Amino acid sequence: MSNDRYIPPRVAHVVVDVRTRALDAPFDYGIPPHLASAVAIGCPVLVPLGGRRAVGFVVGLSDVSRYGDLKDIEAVLGEALSRNDAFELARWIADEYAASLADAMRLFLPPGGTPRVVRHEADGVVSWELVRPTVSAAEDRVVTLLDPAFEPLATAHLQRSILEALRAGPVTSGELAAEFGAVSAALKALEKRGVVEVTARRRWRGDSGRVREDAAHVLTAAQVKAVERIGTSPGAVVMLEGVTGSGKTEVYLRAIDAMLAAGRDSIVLVPEISLTPQTVGRFRARFGSQVAVLHSRLSVGERYDQWSLAAEGTAKVVVGARSALFAPVRNLGLVIIDEEHEPSYKQGSAPRYHARDVAAHMALTSDVTVVLGSATPSLEARVAVEEGLWRSAKLPHRVTTHGLPNVHVVDMGAEFADGNRSMFSTPLGKALDDVAAASGKGVLFLNRRGFASFLLCRECGFVPHCPNCSVSLTYHERGDRLVCHHCGHAEPPMHECPRCKSPYLRKFGAGTQRVEDEIHARWPSLPVVRMDADTTSGKGGHERALVAFEDLKSGLLLGTQMVAKGLDYPEVTLVGVINADTTMHLPDFRAAERTYQLLEQVSGRAGRGDDPGLVIVQTYWPDHPAVRAVASGDADVLYAEEREVRASVGWPPYRRLANIMISGEAEPAVRAHADSLGEALRGAVPDDWEVLGPTDAALARVKRAYRRHVVLKAPRGAGLGRLVRAVLAGHPAPPGVAVAPDIDPVDFG
Ligand code: ADP
Ligand code: ZN
Ligand code: ZN
Repeated sequence: MSNDRYIPPRVAHVVVDVRTRALDAPFDYGIPPHLASAVAIGCPVLVPLGGRRAVGFVVGLSDVSRYGDLKDIEAVLGEALSRNDAFELARWIADEYAASLADAMRLFLPPGGTPRVVRHEADGVVSWELVRPTVSAAEDRVVTLLDPAFEPLATAHLQRSILEALRAGPVTSGELAAEFGAVSAALKALEKRGVVEVTARRRWRGDSGRVREDAAHVLTAAQVKAVERIGTSPGAVVMLEGVTGSGKTEVYLRAIDAMLAAGRDSIVLVPEISLTPQTVGRFRARFGSQVAVLHSRLSVGERYDQWSLAAEGTAKVVVGARSALFAPVRNLGLVIIDEEHEPSYKQGSAPRYHARDVAAHMALTSDVTVVLGSATPSLEARVAVEEGLWRSAKLPHRVTTHGLPNVHVVDMGAEFADGNRSMFSTPLGKALDDVAAASGKGVLFLNRRGFASFLLCRECGFVPHCPNCSVSLTYHERGDRLVCHHCGHAEPPMHECPRCKSPYLRKFGAGTQRVEDEIHARWPSLPVVRMDADTTSGKGGHERALVAFEDLKSGLLLGTQMVAKGLDYPEVTLVGVINADTTMHLPDFRAAERTYQLLEQVSGRAGRGDDPGLVIVQTYWPDHPAVRAVASGDADVLYAEEREVRASVGWPPYRRLANIMISGEAEPAVRAHADSLGEALRGAVPDDWEVLGPTDAALARVKRAYRRHVVLKAPRGAGLGRLVRAVLAGHPAPPGVAVAPDIDPVDFG
């Protein structure tokens, strides 16, 4: 043992969080003695930078600096990132996804983000102010009116205004402050007189949606095996492949239980779209107040509260969307990613990380167990299991007696030729008759990915496009207009084809409104609950639609992608897919796989209870491998072919991709910079990599910005992110041009 006195480090290495800085080289700052105990790795700090002030993160500490004459850190702005793996993980994410370290560290900050530095200048004096986000809704008080008859003094205008505001019902102190300014003195005075009551606001406890009875079941043999597999896999990834309704969620609940018993926390990721009260309710029913919920429909204050529950150690199970992977749990033991194949696990802005792959890295570098669940695992996951990188557990059967629903494919071209002009084929019409006769329930799925309805020339195939963006225009029944969903451009529909002068322009792809109208006309006894972007916008809209459907004795749930995921309503016997085709035509190498996943997921909503299920898939392309795979219940029908194509063309998972998007309003500047990046990349990559392009992006114009991209293909395991970041850092974009690197992209939009 040494007797040396502990000498605190005197130098901090700080990465400044300034947007214009592409490089992560830290700067050295001195640590003044009064801050010595507060500065730690991962702290946000305020530092001088040039003549300005900037927020930065401490990324290292030492006794000496290579540079003389250091400026000092001015203030410590918060605690160090709370997860002990945060800093290492942030560094890995920055390297892997060609992101800045500051962007990656921001993932771990409380909702509301870092404080910003704002410069003020008055009478020639410059000052700097730190603006902290207002986050803590927990600090809000609820003010309730107790004595409506109370008359304040004539001079007490503020008290009078507050009382007026309270007459309609309790209001939070924050809302009063927003309306009237500083209210605390007036509130105190009213409280003292017993006129109002001020209570601590109840912390938001997650969606208050209904919780179905969900007692712990007696596990099936397959479930028992899966739970065991997970329990014996610390530091590993377990791919839980289970058909829809096979009881995956029950397996998750048991695995979390085991973790809690061992004193360890769990994080459960579900796709944002299926983060419904029903999903949340199942976790809450089992684990009660130990659950925190994080998703984007919460206010910042609500998210902050939930985040804090985890940070304090109250919440030991965090259920949330993608970013909940970075929630500040104390002692993480388990990460569960439900619907592993969902593209929404990829973040669309920097840092463009993939939550599944970050989790897999966590398993590799710690004893955290990662469970990936899906009825339709991605080809990436299938290959990782086959190669022994990931483990596997399977639930091959439904827990209910009926097994998977029957799938019936209808050729819509043949229906049309037979004179059926309706959007309902004969078999689907008959199935709806049956639902109406039996007073049953059904789900109708309208595949609208990428477009709603559009105009199509039946003679030459012409489709009207937006003059600003390279996308087809959507036809809106209301107002009879063609509208661009990217830039808002609108025009009246043409009556003859501008290309071939044909008068046969037909609306293709019905909107939910039109489907609903036709159902009302043909099956008046079947009420319809619509669930699409229009009817569920706003907080709780999604939940309201589901509760309305649940409350129906008999009727239909009609919706877009939202109805495909996660819903577990045993009364539903019929699923109708109105148009399977739209996803097949996406300009993406994963189009077939996505179509299969979507059809399989939506099929899985049928026959989950005591009655058998029936699925009717309407398509103009009944031979498509995705349709055949769903109809036969055999994923290999699709994947056998899919593997060959991907391997021979060199798509993931056989090669690794990067997509570098260059955009800006001035086309020549974008072209020039794209060319120079393309050349720089060609000069920098090893021989077995390929650089494709630059070419126009699939959406070459979005909101007046012109977009080109360069695509890189590299062997698996190649350090794409680091190389791309280094090349981009060496070729800064000119003003007005933005460069966005996307490593392992899930779409090329
Ligand atoms: P998945 O997540 O695989 O789609 P769920 O976990 O939603 O499947 O299970 C489907 C239904 O079966 C749920 O209502 C669930 O409560 C029930 N369930 C799960 N496991 C069992 C079991 N071992 N015995 C009986 N019912 C079960
Ligand atoms: Zn035409
Ligand atoms: Zn447009």
